[in-house]
Amino acid sequence: MPEFKPQQILYTPDALNEQGKRIAGQYPDAEQVPIKQHNRLPDAKDLHHYKAKSDLLVLGKLKTLDIKYSGRSSDFIAPSLANGCFGACTYCYVDRHKAINPITVFTNTDEMMAKIDQHVMTLPWPKPPNQTDAVYYTYDVGCNSDVAIDYDISPGVADLFKFYIDHPRAKATFATKFVNHNLLDIDPKRKIRIRFSLMPQEVSRLVDVRTDSIEKRLQAINDFYEAGYEVHVNFSPVIVYDRLRGIDRDWRDDYRELFRQLNASVTDEVKKQMQCEVIFLTHNQQQHLINVELNPKAEELLWMPDFQETKRSSYGGINIRYKHQLKARMIDRFIEMLTEEIPWCGIRYIF
Ligand code: SF4
Repeated sequence: MPEFKPQQILYTPDALNEQGKRIAGQYPDAEQVPIKQHNRLPDAKDLHHYKAKSDLLVLGKLKTLDIKYSGRSSDFIAPSLANGCFGACTYCYVDRHKAINPITVFTNTDEMMAKIDQHVMTLPWPKPPNQTDAVYYTYDVGCNSDVAIDYDISPGVADLFKFYIDHPRAKATFATKFVNHNLLDIDPKRKIRIRFSLMPQEVSRLVDVRTDSIEKRLQAINDFYEAGYEVHVNFSPVIVYDRLRGIDRDWRDDYRELFRQLNASVTDEVKKQMQCEVIFLTHNQQQHLINVELNPKAEELLWMPDFQETKRSSYGGINIRYKHQLKARMIDRFIEMLTEEIPWCGIRYIF
């Protein structure tokens, strides 16, 4: 994982609690600049998209501590620890609505923990088992950032992990595209589920910009399990391409190969507890325009209007996804291949 060395820290005064000061103190060479709102960065608007991710760190206080129902990756989506990451994946929904999206870390993690505790203690106990977990209520703590990166920046992440590890009813989960070996120093007692995101290596090289390679992620799985994590995989986004669509590869061949790589990489013990989630690509018109400028080669894989249909997102943007009937056939194919190659890997959900 690349080292993060911000040149400038933009902070709202209410973010400089003890945690905020500790974070800022880790980067003594960075210029500190007060701002009024963490989601409006007037002075940074001329910075290049990628440069903003490497050079800026924003510290803010998360005002709205909403906990949303999910039912897919987890039972609930926890308030965000952070927003943005130094990766620049071409399909990332976190980056979609912003010209620049530096890492913004929220420093009021104690309020988040109090909110989650209050929330989970109002829910029926024991929990009715469901696909997210048989015993605990699950909270996705990494929907708007990559927690493997946030862990090195904010001591609040370790505090939050401890909260979940010790909590009698709640469990944390997050998906990641990075391998942070510092995460191996804690013992999560299987109360933290890490979901390594996987896709065919050749495609990942194009679309997963500035993340760790698929090879590294595969190699890390056993270590994370041994350290005490529950380890699942996240096949997301599934990008569909073949020769008919003008690409010199076929997604079916590549996924079959990926399943074989996964099968060869993980131990039998890991296989017994591993499940996966599968999400086919949803793209976005605004993001398409940005990608055409920044990463046209990757965009050829994502933007295939003849095979996609539009849908207005709940945030008002125009999203693009594979046509309904076509997608149903792709899902069947995916399940068929997965069942043939890695029958030990249950699918928690697929859409
Ligand atoms: S690693 Fe995740 S949060 Fe970061 S750019 Fe990629 S998809 Fe977005």
